[in-house]
Amino acid sequence: MLSSITILIDAHIASSERKHAPSESIYATDLGSCLRKVTMRRAGFKSDPYDARTLRVFKVGNMYHDFITDALEAQGVLVAKEVVGKKDNISLRVDAIIKGGILVEIKSVNSRKFSYLKSDSDPHYLMQTAIGFHILKDEYKLTSARLYYVSKDDLRILEMEVDLPKWLPRALTYVIDLNNAWKKWTDFGQMPSLLPDVGGKRPWHCRYCNMLTSCKDFREKMENGKDQRPSP
Ligand code: SF4
Repeated sequence: MLSSITILIDAHIASSERKHAPSESIYATDLGSCLRKVTMRRAGFKSDPYDARTLRVFKVGNMYHDFITDALEAQGVLVAKEVVGKKDNISLRVDAIIKGGILVEIKSVNSRKFSYLKSDSDPHYLMQTAIGFHILKDEYKLTSARLYYVSKDDLRILEMEVDLPKWLPRALTYVIDLNNAWKKWTDFGQMPSLLPDVGGKRPWHCRYCNMLTSCKDFREKMENGKDQRPSP
Protein backbone atom coordinates (compact mmCIF):
# COMPACT_ATOMS: atom_id res chain seq x y z
CA MET A 1 0.00 0.00 0.00
CA LEU A 2 1.14 3.57 -0.72
CA SER A 3 2.68 5.32 2.31
CA SER A 4 1.02 8.45 3.68
CA ILE A 5 1.74 11.60 1.66
CA THR A 6 3.33 13.21 4.72
CA ILE A 7 5.81 10.35 5.03
CA LEU A 8 6.66 10.68 1.34
CA ILE A 9 7.14 14.45 1.58
CA ASP A 10 9.31 14.15 4.68
CA ALA A 11 11.40 11.41 3.04
CA HIS A 12 11.87 13.64 -0.02
CA ILE A 13 12.96 16.58 2.13
CA ALA A 14 15.31 14.42 4.19
CA SER A 15 16.96 13.00 1.05
CA SER A 16 17.49 16.46 -0.48
CA GLU A 17 18.77 18.08 2.71
CA ARG A 18 22.21 19.64 2.36
CA LYS A 19 24.68 17.82 4.61
CA HIS A 20 27.28 19.99 6.35
CA ALA A 21 30.65 18.46 7.12
CA PRO A 22 32.01 19.49 10.54
CA SER A 23 34.01 22.68 10.13
CA GLU A 24 36.10 24.96 12.30
CA SER A 25 35.27 27.88 9.99
CA ILE A 26 33.07 30.72 11.12
CA TYR A 27 29.92 30.92 9.02
CA ALA A 28 28.36 34.31 8.31
CA THR A 29 25.19 32.92 9.91
CA ASP A 30 27.13 32.50 13.20
CA LEU A 31 27.30 36.28 13.65
CA GLY A 32 24.96 37.29 16.46
CA SER A 33 24.64 33.69 17.72
CA CYS A 34 25.47 32.47 21.21
CA LEU A 35 29.29 32.17 21.50
CA ARG A 36 28.89 28.85 23.27
CA LYS A 37 26.70 27.43 20.52
CA VAL A 38 29.14 28.44 17.77
CA THR A 39 32.16 27.16 19.72
CA MET A 40 30.41 23.82 20.25
CA ARG A 41 29.58 23.57 16.56
CA ARG A 42 33.16 24.37 15.57
CA ALA A 43 34.49 21.84 18.10
CA GLY A 44 32.35 19.08 16.59
CA PHE A 45 29.83 18.62 19.41
CA LYS A 46 26.71 16.77 18.30
CA SER A 47 23.76 18.95 17.29
CA ASP A 48 20.14 17.99 17.86
CA PRO A 49 18.40 16.80 14.70
CA TYR A 50 15.70 19.09 13.30
CA ASP A 51 12.19 17.70 13.51
CA ALA A 52 10.16 17.02 10.36
CA ARG A 53 8.08 20.20 10.64
CA THR A 54 11.16 22.43 10.95
CA LEU A 55 12.70 20.75 7.88
CA ARG A 56 9.47 21.47 5.98
CA VAL A 57 9.70 25.14 7.01
CA PHE A 58 13.32 25.27 5.77
CA LYS A 59 12.29 23.66 2.48
CA VAL A 60 9.51 26.17 1.91
CA GLY A 61 11.97 28.98 2.75
CA ASN A 62 14.25 27.67 -0.01
CA MET A 63 11.31 27.67 -2.42
CA TYR A 64 10.72 31.37 -1.66
CA HIS A 65 14.39 32.09 -2.32
CA ASP A 66 14.14 30.31 -5.69
CA PHE A 67 10.92 32.17 -6.50
CA ILE A 68 12.64 35.54 -5.96
CA THR A 69 15.93 34.75 -7.68
CA ASP A 70 14.06 33.22 -10.65
CA ALA A 71 12.09 36.48 -10.97
CA LEU A 72 15.31 38.54 -10.82
CA GLU A 73 16.84 36.31 -13.47
CA ALA A 74 13.79 36.56 -15.74
CA GLN A 75 13.94 40.37 -15.44
CA GLY A 76 17.57 40.30 -16.57
CA VAL A 77 19.10 41.81 -13.42
CA LEU A 78 20.56 38.73 -11.75
CA VAL A 79 24.37 38.63 -11.85
CA ALA A 80 24.86 35.55 -9.67
CA LYS A 81 22.96 33.49 -7.10
CA GLU A 82 24.00 31.26 -4.20
CA VAL A 83 27.41 32.89 -4.26
CA VAL A 84 30.00 31.16 -2.08
CA GLY A 85 32.71 33.24 -0.41
CA LYS A 86 35.60 32.44 1.94
CA LYS A 87 38.15 34.69 3.58
CA ASP A 88 40.10 34.64 6.87
CA ASN A 89 38.38 31.42 8.01
CA ILE A 90 34.92 32.90 7.40
CA SER A 91 32.66 30.98 5.01
CA LEU A 92 29.42 32.23 3.54
CA ARG A 93 26.85 31.84 0.83
CA VAL A 94 24.91 34.94 -0.26
CA ASP A 95 21.55 34.62 -1.95
CA ALA A 96 22.02 36.91 -4.94
CA ILE A 97 24.01 39.70 -6.54
CA ILE A 98 22.14 41.93 -8.95
CA LYS A 99 23.12 44.61 -11.44
CA GLY A 100 24.53 47.78 -9.93
CA GLY A 101 26.75 45.75 -7.57
CA ILE A 102 23.93 45.11 -5.10
CA LEU A 103 24.18 42.15 -2.75
CA VAL A 104 20.76 40.74 -1.79
CA GLU A 105 20.00 38.53 1.22
CA ILE A 106 16.50 37.04 1.19
CA LYS A 107 14.76 36.24 4.49
CA SER A 108 11.46 34.38 4.42
CA VAL A 109 9.63 35.00 7.70
CA ASN A 110 6.19 34.82 9.30
CA SER A 111 3.90 37.79 8.67
CA ARG A 112 3.78 38.48 12.45
CA LYS A 113 7.31 39.82 12.12
CA PHE A 114 6.07 42.64 9.89
CA SER A 115 4.23 44.21 12.83
CA TYR A 116 7.53 45.20 14.47
CA LEU A 117 10.11 44.97 11.69
CA LYS A 118 12.44 47.99 11.53
CA SER A 119 15.76 48.70 9.86
CA ASP A 120 17.71 47.43 12.89
CA SER A 121 15.39 44.62 14.08
CA ASP A 122 17.70 41.76 13.16
CA PRO A 123 21.33 42.49 14.07
CA HIS A 124 22.33 38.93 13.11
CA TYR A 125 20.94 39.31 9.56
CA LEU A 126 22.45 42.78 9.24
CA MET A 127 25.90 41.58 10.35
CA GLN A 128 25.62 38.51 8.11
CA THR A 129 24.81 40.68 5.09
CA ALA A 130 27.54 43.20 5.93
CA ILE A 131 30.22 40.51 6.19
CA GLY A 132 29.08 39.10 2.85
CA PHE A 133 29.54 42.54 1.32
CA HIS A 134 32.99 42.82 2.91
CA ILE A 135 34.18 39.46 1.56
CA LEU A 136 32.73 39.71 -1.95
CA LYS A 137 33.00 43.44 -2.63
CA ASP A 138 36.18 43.37 -4.74
CA GLU A 139 35.28 40.28 -6.76
CA TYR A 140 31.79 41.57 -7.67
CA LYS A 141 32.46 45.33 -7.48
CA LEU A 142 29.72 45.67 -4.89
CA THR A 143 28.30 49.07 -4.06
CA SER A 144 25.56 48.26 -1.52
CA ALA A 145 23.69 45.49 0.27
CA ARG A 146 19.99 44.87 0.84
CA LEU A 147 17.87 42.68 3.06
CA TYR A 148 14.74 41.46 1.33
CA TYR A 149 12.06 40.16 3.72
CA VAL A 150 9.10 38.19 2.43
CA SER A 151 6.35 36.74 4.62
CA LYS A 152 5.57 33.13 3.82
CA ASP A 153 1.92 33.21 4.82
CA ASP A 154 0.66 36.45 3.20
CA LEU A 155 3.43 37.54 0.82
CA ARG A 156 4.22 40.87 2.44
CA ILE A 157 7.51 42.32 1.30
CA LEU A 158 9.98 44.71 2.87
CA GLU A 159 13.20 45.71 1.17
CA MET A 160 15.81 47.55 3.21
CA GLU A 161 19.24 48.96 2.55
CA VAL A 162 21.85 47.76 5.05
CA ASP A 163 23.69 50.61 6.76
CA LEU A 164 27.16 49.23 6.08
CA PRO A 165 29.20 51.87 8.03
CA LYS A 166 27.13 50.86 11.08
CA TRP A 167 26.91 47.06 10.68
CA LEU A 168 30.25 46.10 9.15
CA PRO A 169 32.33 47.19 12.21
CA ARG A 170 29.89 45.28 14.44
CA ALA A 171 30.22 42.19 12.26
CA LEU A 172 34.03 42.37 12.37
CA THR A 173 33.97 42.79 16.16
CA TYR A 174 31.72 39.74 16.44
CA VAL A 175 34.21 37.73 14.37
CA ILE A 176 36.94 38.73 16.87
CA ASP A 177 34.69 37.61 19.77
CA LEU A 178 34.07 34.26 18.07
CA ASN A 179 37.78 33.76 17.43
CA ASN A 180 38.68 34.66 21.04
CA ALA A 181 36.09 32.17 22.31
CA TRP A 182 37.50 29.52 19.97
CA LYS A 183 41.08 30.16 21.16
CA LYS A 184 40.05 29.83 24.81
CA TRP A 185 38.49 26.48 23.98
CA THR A 186 41.38 25.08 21.92
CA ASP A 187 44.12 26.40 24.25
CA PHE A 188 42.53 25.95 27.67
CA GLY A 189 39.35 23.85 27.26
CA GLN A 190 37.26 26.83 28.42
CA MET A 191 33.78 26.90 26.93
CA PRO A 192 31.91 30.25 26.76
CA SER A 193 29.28 30.68 29.48
CA LEU A 194 25.61 29.86 29.05
CA LEU A 195 23.44 32.73 27.89
CA PRO A 196 22.12 34.39 31.06
CA ASP A 197 18.52 33.99 32.24
CA VAL A 198 16.06 36.69 31.24
CA GLY A 199 13.42 37.57 33.84
CA GLY A 200 14.19 34.37 35.78
CA LYS A 201 13.77 32.15 32.70
CA ARG A 202 16.09 30.67 30.13
CA PRO A 203 16.24 32.95 27.06
CA TRP A 204 14.18 31.98 24.02
CA HIS A 205 17.35 31.39 22.00
CA CYS A 206 18.00 28.28 24.12
CA ARG A 207 14.56 26.82 23.36
CA TYR A 208 15.34 26.88 19.64
CA CYS A 209 19.05 26.06 19.93
CA ASN A 210 20.15 22.92 18.09
CA MET A 211 23.01 22.49 20.59
CA LEU A 212 20.67 22.37 23.56
CA THR A 213 21.38 18.72 24.48
CA SER A 214 25.15 19.04 24.09
CA CYS A 215 25.07 22.32 26.02
CA LYS A 216 23.26 20.69 28.95
CA ASP A 217 25.44 17.57 28.87
CA PHE A 218 28.55 19.70 28.86
CA ARG A 219 27.41 21.66 31.88
CA GLU A 220 26.55 18.50 33.83
CA LYS A 221 29.86 16.83 33.03
CA MET A 222 31.87 19.97 33.75
CA GLU A 223 30.17 20.14 37.10
CA ASN A 224 31.67 16.68 37.66
CA GLY A 225 35.06 18.10 36.74
CA LYS A 226 35.60 16.34 33.42
CA ASP A 227 37.37 18.00 30.50
CA GLN A 228 35.00 17.79 27.56
CA ARG A 229 37.35 18.43 24.71
CA PRO A 230 36.88 15.69 22.03
CA SER A 231 39.80 13.25 21.95
CA PRO A 232 42.33 14.02 19.20
S1 SF4 B 1 21.35 26.15 24.78
FE1 SF4 B 1 21.49 28.38 25.05
S2 SF4 B 1 23.42 28.74 26.18
FE2 SF4 B 1 23.47 26.65 25.36
S3 SF4 B 1 24.56 26.81 23.42
FE3 SF4 B 1 22.37 26.98 22.97
S4 SF4 B 1 21.90 29.16 23.01
FE4 SF4 B 1 23.88 28.89 24.01
